[in-house]
Amino acid sequence: MNNDLALKIHDAALSVGYDGCGIIALKDMSGYKKFLDERIAKIPESKIIYGFYDAFVNLEKYYPWAKSIIICTFDMGQFKFPKSLQGRYAKAFMLSPDTAENCQEFKNIKLFEQWLRDNNIKFASGEEHKPGYILPLRHAAVYAGLGIFRKNNFFYGKNGSYYELRAYLIDQDCEYKNNVEDIKPCDENCTLCVKSCRTKALSAPYTMNPMLCMSFLTTFGGGVMPENIEEKDLGSWICGCDDCQDACPHNRKHDWSQGKDFYNLNELEELLQPKNIIAASDEVLQERVIPKTDFHIKPENCNVLRVNAERVMRVECEAAN
Ligand code: SF4
Ligand code: SF4
Repeated sequence: MNNDLALKIHDAALSVGYDGCGIIALKDMSGYKKFLDERIAKIPESKIIYGFYDAFVNLEKYYPWAKSIIICTFDMGQFKFPKSLQGRYAKAFMLSPDTAENCQEFKNIKLFEQWLRDNNIKFASGEEHKPGYILPLRHAAVYAGLGIFRKNNFFYGKNGSYYELRAYLIDQDCEYKNNVEDIKPCDENCTLCVKSCRTKALSAPYTMNPMLCMSFLTTFGGGVMPENIEEKDLGSWICGCDDCQDACPHNRKHDWSQGKDFYNLNELEELLQPKNIIAASDEVLQERVIPKTDFHIKPENCNVLRVNAERVMRVECEAAN
């Protein structure tokens, strides 16, 4: 095992702006199959969502040359998030470096990949499989010691849950584990995240019905309302949902009015308001808004944004009367 190389990879990742990096063996992911099987057994109808199942639980079969996994964390809390977009758009979508190829953070990711190439490290990141990428990112980050799972199923690092995770399968045998000792687990009695979930997708700690989750309903689900869910249950969300993360005491202290401006987000703020989404042409939505959904809505499905924005207008109008 080449741990000098592991240290160099770790340092190269941090030098381009990642705030954490771990490296684990492929076999360290073996527990993921049990996790996913248990999750599907609890909610069998959710299996349809897990189209990646075979690839994710059989990394050795799909990537026979791969030996280890690099997993990096990128702290999105370093950016501001405009108040008028809060409660409407998921922060992790809008603040992802993947949403703006001209932003410095995206260029830095490419610099890291060039560093891997320059050091003759073969890698695969699965960019063609966005937004799911190539392997279960949250599990890789936990196995690499970068953070923990909380009851709302999100990965939490030392600054909360608003991290972008990015992984690379590599052909080198090396390991770099981190230590999360200073991250306290959830309080045994806390259920704030479960209570915050208005669609009951998160009906109990560590459970999830992805087909009821607003992150699915407002994107891949096409804005279609499931039976027994009322429009008002989706609140003002147009794309994604942060409710179970924002209800969490481990995120609540974060002030989204502080930090750096994220690339072009301020310029888009007005267009992203519901009435302007409804009025925008397909071309405008496809060019300016769809990239901000972080691959959760395809350009040809841009009308989903209007469907969601119309629902939000109805809900807000009704609440005001
Ligand atoms: S993201 Fe929203 S809908 Fe999905 S589990 Fe969390 S609170 Fe529920
Ligand atoms: S809200 Fe409470 S139970 Fe839920 S993830 Fe946060 S600390 Fe854990």
